[in-house]
Amino acid sequence: MYNIRLLRQLRWPGGPHRLMASQHKRPHLLGSSDQLEQLKSNYFERRQELSGDEWHSVRHSLIEGYKHINGHNVDAVILGVCSGPQQLPLAKNYVDYLRSTGAGPNAATLGRLLRVYNAAYHTRPLSEAEQRDILQICDSLQAAHETLDATSCEQLIHGLVATTDHWQRALPLLEMMKVTSTPSVSAYSALTEKAFGQSDQTELAWRLLEEMVLARKQPKCEVYLALLNRLAQEPATASVQLERLLQFLERHSILVTQKVAERLLQLGELLPQQLRVTSSRLGPLGKCLECRQHLQPVAISEEQFRQLSECFLEKVLIRGDVFQKSTPEEVLRFKQYVEKTAPYDCVIDGLNVAYSTGAKKAPQQLAKLLATVVRHFKERNKRVLVLGREHMRKWSKTAMHYVQNNASLFLTNNLSHDDPFLLYATLISGQETDFFSRDLMRTHAFLLGAELKPIFRRWQQEHQFSLVTQTQTGRIIVKEPIRHRLCVHKAKAGAWHVPYCEAYTPNPTDSFEVPEHWLCLSLKT
Ligand SMILES: [Zn+2]
Repeated sequence: MYNIRLLRQLRWPGGPHRLMASQHKRPHLLGSSDQLEQLKSNYFERRQELSGDEWHSVRHSLIEGYKHINGHNVDAVILGVCSGPQQLPLAKNYVDYLRSTGAGPNAATLGRLLRVYNAAYHTRPLSEAEQRDILQICDSLQAAHETLDATSCEQLIHGLVATTDHWQRALPLLEMMKVTSTPSVSAYSALTEKAFGQSDQTELAWRLLEEMVLARKQPKCEVYLALLNRLAQEPATASVQLERLLQFLERHSILVTQKVAERLLQLGELLPQQLRVTSSRLGPLGKCLECRQHLQPVAISEEQFRQLSECFLEKVLIRGDVFQKSTPEEVLRFKQYVEKTAPYDCVIDGLNVAYSTGAKKAPQQLAKLLATVVRHFKERNKRVLVLGREHMRKWSKTAMHYVQNNASLFLTNNLSHDDPFLLYATLISGQETDFFSRDLMRTHAFLLGAELKPIFRRWQQEHQFSLVTQTQTGRIIVKEPIRHRLCVHKAKAGAWHVPYCEAYTPNPTDSFEVPEHWLCLSLKT
């Protein structure tokens, strides 16, 4: 919770001056982040231990210098600052100091110490004495409380996975976290990573990984790296496990990071009998420049489209949980309107389009932009439905007349959400119909459930148009859908294509950008 960035943001008037003054005889004014850097570089980075007096002084300077630091949380703050893998001796030294004062470390502080152990474990195996210390801390924390809060569980999990023989004690703690919340990405990742590291726990690892993704938690790179590292040691299982990994990434549309891609390339060099991996880029129309195969089209089958629209329409017509912000009368009026005027070639979210180059424009400009988009489709002989809100009637008369004369126009109550209407009208028009909006429709994709979500996303990718920009001369630049798949998948001739991004992000955007970097990967059986 307390990290160095947070500390920098906090003020530090005078506190550490006293401390620095005695060290450097330079008590004059330094910025607070300089002071903290000094404290860090003099105490937390270079030293393995501090004397009792020095710890006393550090502690008091923090309490006096920062509004948000008090006697209750200062110890956890200190361990948060010395949390690097090299700082384990210092962190332990601080906990020893606390014990020597008679007050002892509190649970939050011990939890922090477990995280430092975990950081060290990721750079070297921990000694038996260190593992014993972890277990003692876990025992004492679990003995003191029958149920632990989610944060404590997470700290304990991080400690336990750093041990060789007792890491499975972390599994019930993951269950305990579920009582109050969804376990965090780092709790799931730590356990899954550990399980992938063991030859006999692969099934457990896969189960945790699936569970984690279904809980909308994006696995950290370390999880995949743990699996790949183990496969390097166990070539016999490599092909089967890699196939499973690629299918998993495909099923959940997960973009791996450069780190993982690099490890896959290394694995290819290490196990040339099992797989061939090369970096690649895509040519125009999604052709892999390495194997010259075309990536698969994103289009879904007729059967998948039928499932998708049936499921969505069922939610609309029977359960009614899609149109939450609309009245039943409005929904009925809309359905009748669609029955009369459908099918359309393209359904436009009018408000979304009008606001897509900035919401602070004059109503006249908003209406003109919408009319320009309608004209774009009209010129291509498309039947268009524009969805809008009542208040748009007050926009420019000329432009709105153009819209009304060249498209079907349905205006909803000002408070309604537009995308359920948009999806309804698009899906009911049939498999060829497109829609125009910048909305990513994430909520709707999620509501469809794990099985239909990827199908919805593929349908969305194939049919969603949006506005990129409007030029000075008023011409619009429209983003057209990309017709080939953008996530991990197998091309017809059998090579897997794996896009990757630079760095891990807990919340990927779900936008339909073509990834720049790809691996071309063939598994040999
Ligand atoms: Zn290829």
